[in-house]
Amino acid sequence: MSANVNTGEFPSPNAIGQGVKNQFKEWAAETFAHGGYPASEMGVLANAGLLSCMLPGEPLDLTAPGRGKLLELLRTIGEGNLSVGRIYEGHVNAIQLIALYGTEAQRQRYFTDARRGHVFGVWNTEMADGVRFHPAPTGLRVSGSKSFCSGSIHVTRPIITGQLAPGGNTAGGWQMAVVPLDKHQPPVDRTFWTTTGMKNSVSHKIDFTDIHLAADDLLGQPNDYNRQPHLSGGAVRFAAVQLGGAEAILHATRTYLRQMERTADPHQRMRLGQMVIGVESGKLWLRRAGEMLDSQPDADAIVNMANQVRTAITGYCKECLELSDQSVGARGMLPPQPLARLHADLRVYLRQPAPDATLGAVGQYFLDGAS
Ligand SMILES: Cc1cc2nc3c(=O)[nH]c(=O)nc-3n(C[C@H](O)[C@H](O)[C@H](O)COP(=O)(O)OP(=O)(O)OC[C@H]3O[C@@H](n4cnc5c(N)ncnc54)[C@H](O)[C@@H]3O)c2cc1C
Repeated sequence: MSANVNTGEFPSPNAIGQGVKNQFKEWAAETFAHGGYPASEMGVLANAGLLSCMLPGEPLDLTAPGRGKLLELLRTIGEGNLSVGRIYEGHVNAIQLIALYGTEAQRQRYFTDARRGHVFGVWNTEMADGVRFHPAPTGLRVSGSKSFCSGSIHVTRPIITGQLAPGGNTAGGWQMAVVPLDKHQPPVDRTFWTTTGMKNSVSHKIDFTDIHLAADDLLGQPNDYNRQPHLSGGAVRFAAVQLGGAEAILHATRTYLRQMERTADPHQRMRLGQMVIGVESGKLWLRRAGEMLDSQPDADAIVNMANQVRTAITGYCKECLELSDQSVGARGMLPPQPLARLHADLRVYLRQPAPDATLGAVGQYFLDGAS
């Protein structure tokens, strides 16, 4: 970060995020066209100090109040490029898990790695050939694969999860481990990620079979990963990134209508009005989420809030997609307009775990509640 020459102060991560977003928007067409890892964008995030701004003692310290600002930053980066937002959200999630469950030595080690530009991620999703950790003479041997590994092998410090068998002094369970991926070349199935949108998130399938880990590569205790409110509560972060995608569509729709001189039409005004209300409503939800995370109510209340936030924001995003579609028509989807790629990315990124169960849980919480 470089100091402001007039005030001598360093710009806040949120101010840096605004500049970064504009740069990402300029590069977006080219990045989407190459369809690979967004290396330039991730390099900008590293150079701007945004891979470390959430570490303890830093401006967006994840262990201190001020979560609203972090959600705002995630939204801003998502507006610039949704795939970058996805990879960045994984990095933030991993840092949070290390802050929560790492030993003092692990925190020191991994936070230093983050300051040096290592990208972290969290790869929990898997198919039938999922990850197992097997005791070995020196540490553990891994078998199996993870799917949807956002950032792919460019994430040099992914947290992977897998089944640890009982034995020795462990009861076993769903275990986290940090894999030093810069020291391994696992087989990567790139064909897994043949998608219409979010190509740049390079969410490949990776086979970890026969990678050996040291005992202190394991993070936390078995089943820590599933502990609430952190598991479900983290959904507010991906919702923030998604809302950034909707905001990008809102702005691109307005630009197109201005170019076509179609802004005086009452139908267009109403559609844009509805889109503005959706995006602003999403921002209110995120502000509320930030306040609740700072005030730390009980775990169930945080989970219930996060379930509402992600469901509501998914709804606003879907509404923006539909209204933008109607507003710009087929011609508005043709390059060099950005709308086709913005729509493709958001449609794919809206697919997140267990949407039905999440909304059902909101209803159940209310049905079971006293007030
Ligand atoms: C761009 C992108 C990047 C991603 N990156 C990562 C990553 O870095 N790390 C990671 O761990 N994961 C990642 N994921 C995976 C993501 O977290 C979800 O796990 C995944 O998108 C869910 O898959 P699905 O949409 O196929 O859902 P499904 O779970 O198959 O859901 C589809 C539908 O079925 C319903 N459903 C679910 N279970 C049942 C059931 N038992 N019976 C009946 N209906 C059911 C759901 O409510 C939903 O309506 C990523 C996903 C995307 C799209």
